[in-house]
Amino acid sequence: MSKLKYCQGPKCHTYDTKDRKKGPKDNKRNETRRRSSFYYLDNNACSMQCERDWFNLYGQRALQHFGYISQPKILTKDNAWVNRRDWRAEGNNRFFAYNHLTEERRPITEQQYQDDTNLTDGRLNI
Ligand SMILES: [Zn+2]
Repeated sequence: MSKLKYCQGPKCHTYDTKDRKKGPKDNKRNETRRRSSFYYLDNNACSMQCERDWFNLYGQRALQHFGYISQPKILTKDNAWVNRRDWRAEGNNRFFAYNHLTEERRPITEQQYQDDTNLTDGRLNI
């Protein structure tokens, strides 16, 4: 069984739901949700609201910590590759790298499709 962890939403305990209520009648309290897994904030928040609350409180500091971009990022034909799968195709045509600017297709292996080792930031390594 996986370990329980707390939602990282800073206001999680303030949302009044039945599952957050704890304690006996004379000492009722609401607590932060605790689960083995979450769907939001990369498995760290119990709801979209808690994810939003986290970002509103910490997002600015996260941007300062990791750095703002000062130049636009640019997509050209050289870094426009993604891995795709054609569910209707058979054999060697099922997996391919696709350039979404030139619409070129190049065959790849299923392993490359799974682990993206043929790509680095949208550039082909093969
Ligand atoms: Zn929460």
